[in-house]
Amino acid sequence: MSVEGIARALVNIYKGNVDIDHEVEEHLFQETSKIFNEAISEGYANAVENNTPLPNDTFRSSFKHSADVFSAFRVHRMQQDIAAQMIDEDGHVKPFQKFVKDVSPYIEHRNRAWLRTEYDTAILRAQNAAEWKMFEAEKDVYPNLEWINSTSPNPGADHMVFWGTVRPVDDPFWNGHKPGDRWNCKCELQQSDSDVTAAPLSDGKSDPARGLESNPAKAEELFSQKHPYYPQSCMSCPFAGNKLMALAMDLAGRKNCNRCGKVRKSVAETEKKSNRREYERLKKEPQYKDVQYDKKSGGVKATHNGHNEQTEKTKLGVSSAELEKHCQDILFKKGHRVIFVDEKVKDSKGRFLTQLDMLLDGKPCDIASVTTNRRHYGMVLVSKNKQIHRYNSREDITTTADTLCLYFHKASMYDEKRVLRSINYYLHFRKNDGKLIDHNIKTIHCVVNGNDEIFTFSVE
Ligand SMILES: [Zn+2]
Repeated sequence: MSVEGIARALVNIYKGNVDIDHEVEEHLFQETSKIFNEAISEGYANAVENNTPLPNDTFRSSFKHSADVFSAFRVHRMQQDIAAQMIDEDGHVKPFQKFVKDVSPYIEHRNRAWLRTEYDTAILRAQNAAEWKMFEAEKDVYPNLEWINSTSPNPGADHMVFWGTVRPVDDPFWNGHKPGDRWNCKCELQQSDSDVTAAPLSDGKSDPARGLESNPAKAEELFSQKHPYYPQSCMSCPFAGNKLMALAMDLAGRKNCNRCGKVRKSVAETEKKSNRREYERLKKEPQYKDVQYDKKSGGVKATHNGHNEQTEKTKLGVSSAELEKHCQDILFKKGHRVIFVDEKVKDSKGRFLTQLDMLLDGKPCDIASVTTNRRHYGMVLVSKNKQIHRYNSREDITTTADTLCLYFHKASMYDEKRVLRSINYYLHFRKNDGKLIDHNIKTIHCVVNGNDEIFTFSVE
């Protein structure tokens, strides 16, 4: 977590700018959810490296949401603990400096050891989720799964009782126990056509840890709602609001935080607040123009003065800069943060550095406007792939890009089949030496003029 984010959160909490009982401190939330979303990306990347396909968009969006819900409850707990440090033994509010000093060891502890374990486990859960999807898809060929020993040099006794167990993919055994259901577990699951073994009983010390009981692929969640950060009941939930509803949900046994509309609303409101703050910040920066905030959706847009404003007309009779702006507007009105960046950045030798158009929700991303009616747009992907590769190779880049926005100003030029054909062309495109190109683009958003929906495709 960044020192700046934590410092701003401490000021916010100390000044009482955030209702620590029913809201989520936005700086802590932004930092936390970013970390867990990075962990998920890393888990997927590990899976893909082992030839496991990326899970589909629907799954990825539920999984991401569950990470945001986990982050919201984590921050809620943290802000309560932080606020408790504001009061001295006599019940008086401490001076700000004393408060910061007293709360530092807690923050240090929370952010080092705990976060590390949670982060590493999040990577594993994402990777395991992708693998489980593949196990299910391939169970005709590999009907069974085998529990593989921990590869850790100091595996401990956890899970030893289950090592070597072979059970069918659909066997209920895997609902009760599986690799990754204890913190820092390094066991693995492997597809197998060996004979099934008996299902061992747990020895008590190999039971799943709280928060890791669920199968991340089946439950579509990063952590289960039994994790201690989550409330035990809707009645004790900081975001529940209406007591009657909360009690009824509890009595009916319907609590499901990772799917709950109330929690979803809190997360969305926190994100809106942090977008609003981003807007306030950009508005004060003289190098940005056209800085706007959309109250309804929470979207933010801004354009750096160094952003190219090419005026040459495209085949549609509109300049490419104008097309980019249209695309920006649609994303903005859908609640995204769309910051057009400085394209005149030079290196130490005075050469222009490869740049991408924008930061979309904080991630670098380029826009390609489709202006001609083709059977597919594969060559656009190939050339943008090169640009993204050059961008990611820049020494100063810490957040790499893997996303492209295709903008269809003329809605009739968009259709799903053409996009799929384009992806297919791109994936099979070969260089002059006959080798496939490296694929830097992993996600394509299609933004269509006049259409409310943004169509997202995974490139795989
Ligand atoms: Zn294990």
